Amino acid sequence: MVVTRFAPSPTGLLHLGNARTALLNKLVARAHGGRFLLRIEDTDKKRSRSDFQNAILEDLHRLGLDHDGEFVIQSTRHARHLEAAESLLKSGAAFRCYLDEKSMESASAKSQKSGAAFRSPYRDGHKPSLPQAEPAIRLRAPDKGMLSIDDKIHGRVSVPATQIDDYVLVRSDGSPTYMLSVVVDDHDMGVTHIVRGEDHMVSAFRQDWLYKALGWSTPAVANVPLIFDESGNKLSKRAGLGSVRGLFAQGYLPQAVASYLMGLGWSGADDQCLSIDEAARKFRLEDLSVSPARLSLDKLANINMRAMRDMDPDALWHALREFADKDSPDSGASHPILKTLREFTDKGSLESESSRRVLKLYQGRAETLKALAAFLHEFRQALSLPPKDEKARMALDGAEVPRLLLGSRCALTDVREWSLEAIGDSLREVARTHGVGFGRVARPLRAAVLRDMATPDLVESLAALGQGESLKRLDEAERYLAQHH
Ligand code: GLU
Repeated sequence: MVVTRFAPSPTGLLHLGNARTALLNKLVARAHGGRFLLRIEDTDKKRSRSDFQNAILEDLHRLGLDHDGEFVIQSTRHARHLEAAESLLKSGAAFRCYLDEKSMESASAKSQKSGAAFRSPYRDGHKPSLPQAEPAIRLRAPDKGMLSIDDKIHGRVSVPATQIDDYVLVRSDGSPTYMLSVVVDDHDMGVTHIVRGEDHMVSAFRQDWLYKALGWSTPAVANVPLIFDESGNKLSKRAGLGSVRGLFAQGYLPQAVASYLMGLGWSGADDQCLSIDEAARKFRLEDLSVSPARLSLDKLANINMRAMRDMDPDALWHALREFADKDSPDSGASHPILKTLREFTDKGSLESESSRRVLKLYQGRAETLKALAAFLHEFRQALSLPPKDEKARMALDGAEVPRLLLGSRCALTDVREWSLEAIGDSLREVARTHGVGFGRVARPLRAAVLRDMATPDLVESLAALGQGESLKRLDEAERYLAQHH
């Protein structure tokens, strides 16, 4: 049975690198019909916060990365961690170290100079006659030879034993360290595969030695190459870069973010929006690239646009509401987009054919929910005159424009059933009557009603806008022209 885990520290929001780690762990578990577990590593009491924990859980859920079973909270397992340290003291693999802070500093400076990792003067197990400080418990590092791990991505990686230090398992204040807790917890949770960022590579060697000291077998490991930002710098949680929420706030869909993360360093994703289960069918850790991944917001925007295009209108509608209600930095009841969306709902919700049409018109054109919402907002608003769009202003300029608009107005007023076909027929009839091509009628009409020439198909737009709103805007434009021509 394959068991993987994601082990975030609740000291900040879920950032992209960690979301990707969670995703890979879930994929490995699913690919083998195994389990994906979650452990909250809250041993750093000063920086851990419950609101961060909740935010991480919520973001994982939205990304489709729910864990299996109950999650484990590391701090509740203190006693078990200490018990493991005691057993190491008993077996002689660990020792009590009486160095106080000052002597510790000079000892580690000395070892740094010599190029070897720190070795405690107490590693032979002796006790000073007058201890100056409460002892810490350290693991005795290997004396010679090489330490090797078989990394699923990098292959066999080795370091000389002299690079591993006599590291602390239990601090002098009695608290277990991350190194000890993580190994004991992974073992007790039955974790078989540890997949995490390459920044933990050194930990992998140190932990491997601890597994051996405890007489346990080391899980398989994969140190995943890190993600770099667009200018080639490491994504940093502390610098506030790359939080998943930051992307939601810009209007990226959670499922698009998940798809994007899937394709980072894995060509099997093939630029498609795969679900976890689809991806799991062909995913292999061994296929991940060994070089670092580069974040590309263009690519994310593209995936997002396609995801929105292919979405069922009702689901898209809910995503828009969620964006305006919650994710957008200026979310809240008075958000202009929410107002527009409510207007849509008031007019019979998405069940209304016209709201569906408007969404359909724009859903393949916007890169983000934010852009889509802005399109919808503009579309619904009575736009000011003269149009801001230069081309639309010019389209209202010609001498024949008032005559053609009047013709269109009459024809559109007469349309009985406001369908694409009937609107198209009536406008073609106007062109015929005036002896001009369809474009000559369509251009000023687009400018008068939509007030922006870079808008979707005219007939579809009129249909989506509705007869009343189209005629109202046309009237406004005619009044404006009468005053200004
Ligand atoms: N809590 C650690 C972190 O957030 C996880 C380390 C691990 O996966 O072993 O970096």
